[in-house]
Amino acid sequence: MNNSIFFLGTGGDSIVVGKQLRASGGIIFKFGSTLFHVDPGPGALVRAKQFDMNLRELTAILVSHNHLNHSADANAVISATTYSGIDKRGVLICDEETIHGSSEEKGAISNYHKGLVERFIAMKHGMRIGINNINIMATYAKHTSTSIGFKFYAEKFVVSYTSDTEYCKELVEDHKDSDVIVINCKYPSGLIQKGHLNSEDVVKFLQKTKPKLAILTHFGIKMLDADPIYEAREIQKKTTTQVISARDGMVVNPVSYAASLKQKKLSSF
Ligand SMILES: [Zn+2]
Repeated sequence: MNNSIFFLGTGGDSIVVGKQLRASGGIIFKFGSTLFHVDPGPGALVRAKQFDMNLRELTAILVSHNHLNHSADANAVISATTYSGIDKRGVLICDEETIHGSSEEKGAISNYHKGLVERFIAMKHGMRIGINNINIMATYAKHTSTSIGFKFYAEKFVVSYTSDTEYCKELVEDHKDSDVIVINCKYPSGLIQKGHLNSEDVVKFLQKTKPKLAILTHFGIKMLDADPIYEAREIQKKTTTQVISARDGMVVNPVSYAASLKQKKLSSF
């Protein structure tokens, strides 16, 4: 498949990740031969093997923030991609704290592993960089003091990933023109935690951003209890967006989704 979003994990809290009720290997965004591994959490190497993904092919490794379920296997993935520096290659893109640490925390990426990639970049909200023919923008995320999401501008479509965040107007602004949005929806309706989204927030978010497809992921135990498939259906009823919930190992082709939706709309005239 030429363009795909590949879920090496869909778990989102310490219970779900700790018991591996859902995997936590991150998400691989593939645009032709350009592969981005985003948020390689605990077990990323194991899940890559399980789902037959060759990490030697990665173009870049991206980490949205310095929390364990997003960054635990980042060093391991860098090592796998570069054969521990024998083949110095790839780009590492992270928020500020994951690369440089902060006054409270050490950064997840070790100095040794920073030296194995061709270049590493700390991104702040609003920054843009180009890798091959894909432009990447760091989107706003209200979660840690430096956390970000990612927006990928491919030639014919735009895909974005919210990462962990609260609902806010900056979030809406940054994801507005995306065709497909991957949303970390940790909680079902009625459950609120600072720094995270629940299903009600996602309804508000989608009513304003109106992508063609939204994919829910990063589920906490309460979300699993409520059933992500049910929550996705309920969200879809209240928006104009097609909403699905991710499964471990799921592969989505963003282009065919966007195209088939357009066809459906045309044939209904
Ligand atoms: Zn987090």
